[in-house]
Amino acid sequence: MERLVRSCYKKKSGYIFARKAEDIAREYGMSRIARLASNENPEPLSPAALEAAEEALRGVNRYPDERVNVLMNALREYYGDYHFVTGVGMDGVIETLIRTLVDPGEKVAVSTPTFSFYALAAMGQGADLVTIPREPDFTIDPKNLVRAGKEAKIVFLCSPNNPTGNATGPEVVREILEGIEGVLFLDNAYVEFSDYDYLPLMKKHENLILGRTFSKVHSLAGLRIGYAFTPRWLPPWYQRAGTPFTVNSVSAAAAAAALSDKGHAERYIAQVATWRKRFAAEVKYPVLPSDANFVMVDVAPRTSGEIVEELARQGVVVRSCRSFAGLPDHYIRASIGEDWENARFVRVINAL
Ligand code: PMP
Repeated sequence: MERLVRSCYKKKSGYIFARKAEDIAREYGMSRIARLASNENPEPLSPAALEAAEEALRGVNRYPDERVNVLMNALREYYGDYHFVTGVGMDGVIETLIRTLVDPGEKVAVSTPTFSFYALAAMGQGADLVTIPREPDFTIDPKNLVRAGKEAKIVFLCSPNNPTGNATGPEVVREILEGIEGVLFLDNAYVEFSDYDYLPLMKKHENLILGRTFSKVHSLAGLRIGYAFTPRWLPPWYQRAGTPFTVNSVSAAAAAAALSDKGHAERYIAQVATWRKRFAAEVKYPVLPSDANFVMVDVAPRTSGEIVEELARQGVVVRSCRSFAGLPDHYIRASIGEDWENARFVRVINAL
């Protein structure tokens, strides 16, 4: 019966997941693994978010609020008068956005190397994918991006970029917004760890969407909740294209409460700033400058696969960047975790 499966899924593999810390612990007989592969906040969720989630759990015999008002109100209170959409992680937002705007055969452009899900989601919608490589130092040439992405319905640009870690400044983003015919989806999953503010652009451009997530700084990765700042015209169409009741009531309540706990976010942001500097100073391989909660490390002449395997054997899980299309096979990505995890990473990699 597999002949029934769409050919695009037979040709290409799906999302590549990081190796599971539990599997590595079992394989190498270790009790404590440094989990630095998925850019998560190692601190558990804020007590306020936990309490709100428990309260919401009592009401799950009913369908959730399809307008997600508890979260929409919290977002407006936090950021001001903007337009938002929500989804099952930012991944869910990306998928629904493509479904809203892109007919099969229309162009979707992706600046690479980058997070893989834009291309996978575009493929699922039958889009014609245009990849636009970054410069050799991983910066963005806006003229090049505009030339190649001009006619795309959506251009995906990640800032700070996963996995390279560098951010693209608002001036460059503005030039792109003014040059393209479609929308720019600026993925801000890691923006809280950078000094850039893209919100002023939101007020001036009708073709900018800023993707955000509760999975990183807010410690809610397991609840799968994301959102985006959108222009005014988009939300009604996005609602029409989306799955009914996508965002569940527990996630919405926890996310709304998480926004109010500024101390929780600030603690991890400070931890990231400290350890980005320490990684750059202490790791013996070149560490690329990062505006995110992870760093990319150039492990040449070793290969990423070898280094990832040797780190795993000594209780440190990081991400090989081999699966990021457009990157040579000598980069790894390490997240900033707790002190003991980061220290173990530095000690182990320096011995390789
Ligand atoms: N964008 C980027 C750049 C990411 O790295 C990730 C998650 N790793 C996502 C989006 C997806 O985030 P979410 O967990 O909200 O789906």
